[in-house]
Amino acid sequence: MPRLTLGDFELSIFSDGTYPLDGGAFFGVVPKVMWSKRVLADDKNYVVAGLNSLLIRTGKQTVLVETGMGNKLSERMIKFYGQPAQLLANLAAGGIRPEDVDIVINTHLHFDHCGWNTVRGEDGRIVPTFPRAKYYAPEGEWQYARKPSERDAISYIPENYDPLVQSGQMTLLKGGEEIVPGITVKTFPGHTAHMQAVIVDGNPGSMIGKGTSLLVPSEGEKRTRASAPAIACYISDLIPTTAHIDITWGMGFDLYPLQTIESRKQYYAKAIPEKWLTVFTHDPKTPWAYVEKDEAGKMVARGM
Ligand SMILES: [Zn+2]
Repeated sequence: MPRLTLGDFELSIFSDGTYPLDGGAFFGVVPKVMWSKRVLADDKNYVVAGLNSLLIRTGKQTVLVETGMGNKLSERMIKFYGQPAQLLANLAAGGIRPEDVDIVINTHLHFDHCGWNTVRGEDGRIVPTFPRAKYYAPEGEWQYARKPSERDAISYIPENYDPLVQSGQMTLLKGGEEIVPGITVKTFPGHTAHMQAVIVDGNPGSMIGKGTSLLVPSEGEKRTRASAPAIACYISDLIPTTAHIDITWGMGFDLYPLQTIESRKQYYAKAIPEKWLTVFTHDPKTPWAYVEKDEAGKMVARGM
């Protein structure tokens, strides 16, 4: 699995497999003559989407961002998406047992991002997949998921989160919290109203003045960085693949497409000059890359 060192942290990508997605839905209003130059579609117009989870070892904790599609899909949904269900096997191959995970973070609660939060035990009861983990998810997402619109109701499967909220194992986040030193969440509306990206600063000790926002360091704070910024961001469905990096190439699934554009501008205004590593949740080939602007002003993804 892809792995790298980010300051004091070790980052790896673990996949839950790939699944077919309608290319039109994936690229929204972008014409097929344009997106088909970047991504191959089959004769039914399906493209291949990945399910990338990010594992962070901080030295103290093992943190898992996103838990894929899981293994609890209905027969009807399996017809659309299959059910690759490879995350636990891939984690095991990397030496990670479910009980090794200390923290699970969900960026939002669509079924393809929190599916392995829970499993159905032999007695039919829903139990946490990661028994020792503290789970985190955006509070606004959870509120919305209780009464979603007809448009995206199919994307919410309460078994993935309700039992964890009820038992107290899942903490709901407002956005902006630091989960552990160096790992913060930030709300980027667009795909949904409350989706939160996960920002990983691999040099958490290199900034002073904690409590002030990690995202807007003052000049004084900037100078205290021990080394070059080592920041990665799991930007989730705001920018799902390297084929979606242009400001206006949003997904058809986005509930607030104009906010997707604003949030991307806001993200790139930090991520490009500060050379953040962007993690792409649904890219089957390039799970992380640096997004840059070339001389013509076009966005390019420079892979690892
Ligand atoms: Zn989503």
